[in-house]
Amino acid sequence: MNTLAEAPPPEARSEKDIIAGLQEKISASRLSLFLQCRLKFYFRYVLRLPKPKTPSLHLGSAVHTVLKTWNKARWLQQPLSLKAVHQTYLKAWADTTEGPVQWEPGEEEADKTTGWRLCDTYLRESHVPADLKPDAVEVPVEADLTSHGLPRLIGVLDLVQQRQIIDYKTASSTPNPDKAAHSNEIQTSSYSELYRHNTGAIETGVQLHHLVKLKNPKVVITTLPPMRPPQQTRLFKQMEAYLDGLQRQHFVPSPGMQCLSCEFFNECRRWH
Ligand code: SF4
Repeated sequence: MNTLAEAPPPEARSEKDIIAGLQEKISASRLSLFLQCRLKFYFRYVLRLPKPKTPSLHLGSAVHTVLKTWNKARWLQQPLSLKAVHQTYLKAWADTTEGPVQWEPGEEEADKTTGWRLCDTYLRESHVPADLKPDAVEVPVEADLTSHGLPRLIGVLDLVQQRQIIDYKTASSTPNPDKAAHSNEIQTSSYSELYRHNTGAIETGVQLHHLVKLKNPKVVITTLPPMRPPQQTRLFKQMEAYLDGLQRQHFVPSPGMQCLSCEFFNECRRWH
């Protein structure tokens, strides 16, 4: 068990109950974080230590809201004007219901402009045709994997179009296609698994749409084929490792490059 110098406020649910819940349901982001650093997973999902939203997360959420709204309008076959999209962006930017954002002086206005330029670039370049009706937009899905001895897999698909799963990301540098495919594999395989369970069909592939925050914003699309059987096996083995780790409560730190951006750095230094 982990010991911290400063204990957080008591949770309504016991740690045991929270861990039991995490053993029943898994998402790609939980699994990725667990495999990246078990202690960070423990701080975020078991202790649920509150942290301010980062500027980068706020920008990503606002852009995501715009694309979701734009795609939903396409699904209703009532496409939005650029002016309406801009209004959506301004509203999303002003929304701080998920908590305050820690801005450096002058940072907010610059980020706000960057976020809008990303949306504008994406829509003007027509990476997804405005008149093509999507199969699904922002749909929460679940796959019961208990027959494999695994938890229920949950997730939200940003966009499905012509049986292709599309996931949006904001990035600060241009992604390399091979590295993007590799580093997002848990997420893309999870989405494929969810798609197959919920439709009974095989996806035509997965696309990662990276909106890159450069001086001149650009969109990089990485197209991946349908999930292959070895990728499904990898995903299931990773889930087994997750279940095993939770069972043993092995929440140990994994110091590395990821610590540079870890919001739990101070808590981690006190862990023993
Ligand atoms: S600082 Fe590094 S080792 Fe510590 S919790 Fe964060 S990611 Fe894990």
